[in-house]
Amino acid sequence: MKHLLTLYAEFNEVVKKMGKLEENNEKKIHEILSIVKLCSLLFSGIIFLKYMFNKNSIIKNAPHSYYGLIIFLCVIPILLSIYILLEFLVIKRTSLKCNNLLKLIENAVFVLIFIIVIFFTGANTSNYKYLFLFIIIISTIQAGMKQGMMIASIASFFILALDIVYSPNSLVNQYFENDLILAGVFMLTAWILGYYVKTENQHIKKLESLANEDGLTGVYNHRFFYDALGEIMHRCEKENKQVSMIFMDIDYFKSYNDLYGHQNGDEVLKTIGSILKNSFRQDDVVARYGGEEFAIVLPNTSEEHAVSLAEEVRIKIEKTYFYGEENQPNGKLTVSIGISIYPDKAKNDIELVKSADDALYRAKFFDKNRVETYTSILDELKIDTEDEHIDTITSIKTLISVINAKDKYTYGHVERVVVYSRLLADKLKLNENDKKNLIYGAYMHDIGKINIPKEILNKNMPLTREEWDIMKQHSQNGVDIIKHVESLKKLIPLILHHHERYDGNGYPANLKGENIPYIVRMLTVVDCFDAMTSNRPYNKRKTYEDALAELKRFSGTQFDGDIVNAFIEVIMESKNSVELIS
Ligand code: GH3
Ligand code: MG
Ligand code: MG
Repeated sequence: MKHLLTLYAEFNEVVKKMGKLEENNEKKIHEILSIVKLCSLLFSGIIFLKYMFNKNSIIKNAPHSYYGLIIFLCVIPILLSIYILLEFLVIKRTSLKCNNLLKLIENAVFVLIFIIVIFFTGANTSNYKYLFLFIIIISTIQAGMKQGMMIASIASFFILALDIVYSPNSLVNQYFENDLILAGVFMLTAWILGYYVKTENQHIKKLESLANEDGLTGVYNHRFFYDALGEIMHRCEKENKQVSMIFMDIDYFKSYNDLYGHQNGDEVLKTIGSILKNSFRQDDVVARYGGEEFAIVLPNTSEEHAVSLAEEVRIKIEKTYFYGEENQPNGKLTVSIGISIYPDKAKNDIELVKSADDALYRAKFFDKNRVETYTSILDELKIDTEDEHIDTITSIKTLISVINAKDKYTYGHVERVVVYSRLLADKLKLNENDKKNLIYGAYMHDIGKINIPKEILNKNMPLTREEWDIMKQHSQNGVDIIKHVESLKKLIPLILHHHERYDGNGYPANLKGENIPYIVRMLTVVDCFDAMTSNRPYNKRKTYEDALAELKRFSGTQFDGDIVNAFIEVIMESKNSVELIS
């Protein structure tokens, strides 16, 4: 494995070097072409000046009024020389489109200069018709066969037309015959060189795609994903556009590999790669982010649109038959998907990746085979919080991740309790305010665990009396952490009393029945259900069916019976959860 990682790192290094090499090559070609342009202009200037002052030249017979024009034409090569020199010093950073137009204009000007030089150095009798070769070579290398052939045709037409115009009546037109060969050389040069440039470009493209593609799935690789993400974010930031991010992970893929081997696993990855490739749009970047994780960047896409695309893909994969999928835990091979969006939910590319990954994590821990968008409860809370306490909210987030890291058995517990609370609040038609408080409270209910030693949290035997006493302190500890923040004060009952029992035998205040606030009784049901259905250090996880039976058994003693009934309905109505029960 280590060996593979080293190889991968080395490959990335080679790819980076290749990119630099290509940049250097382009720069070198650009410099050489500029030298050729400069030389051809100098030659033209010398030829032109020589003939201008030659008594045999056409100029000698030209009327006086043409002198101004002639001197003006002399200035053009000098001006262009300066322009090319400038090009040497300042490597062009203009956009591709602008660059192509500039090149076309530049080539047209060159053609014009050579026409003028040939015209004034004897027209059909000129010895300098080969000057066109310069611009044919330059334009073919720069812009490819099409433009090279176009310029070769214009040059051929011009020299042949001169021969016909200047000696129309001669029976044997020696110049025309010679120039026919020259025209052939022009066309052949453009064709051969153009063909070479084309093959070379195809070769470079092939190499590029090999460097950017993932060999197994055919989608882009991790390195290209980050390069493209950087560019897309930069562009969309400038244009004030949204960028959506989709993260996808195959469900229970480890067990698939264990059952059918890595070769069959690879086939699944290939199929999913091609489904993804065919499901997204031209501008979207589909990449294999890691082993069996894919990431898709969707420039200029709203969250709703990203969700609908992701949902389509999820269903497509669910409906696709994969070899042996009937033995997967939910009878099918499925994927979980997380979505986030810039700038609404993330400030930069790193946050965008992190938040999409968080959303995926939520999709996984709820019940997989689903699409989840990123919601940061704490970000929502920040809106309602006074400015001086924003930092407290941010540190609460850190506290919760510390608890998650410390208490390895309850990893994801908080997130799941939040999801269940939301569903239960809708079922019991809580008003917006109560619903908000329940959700915020659900998020923070275990915050006091930060002070409980790791050994107690992770102990895999029943706790001693002393240890239970320490554990029970987490309710009060939690209150102590948040009590100074005005906007969080309303959450105190939820944090303090979520371990009270309906029959009055709970802790810390032995509150009973209706004396326990309604939303606190709701949180107790949800919290216990998740505790039962996730692995705990001191007891094995229960199936959803067993956990619901347990809730029912203690309804009226530990729990509020009405709330238990509503919660059972919530769980039964959730299609995916029902699949899990069976
Ligand atoms: P979850 O539903 O929570 O995602 O569970 P999971 O089993 O899929 O867990 P996880 O995502 O951690 O599993 C990653 C597995 O993906 C481990 C490994 O067997 C498999 N995997 C990773 N890369 C490749 C690969 O290139 N080919 C194959 N065949 N399997 C891979
Ligand atoms: Mg994974
Ligand atoms: Mg997985």
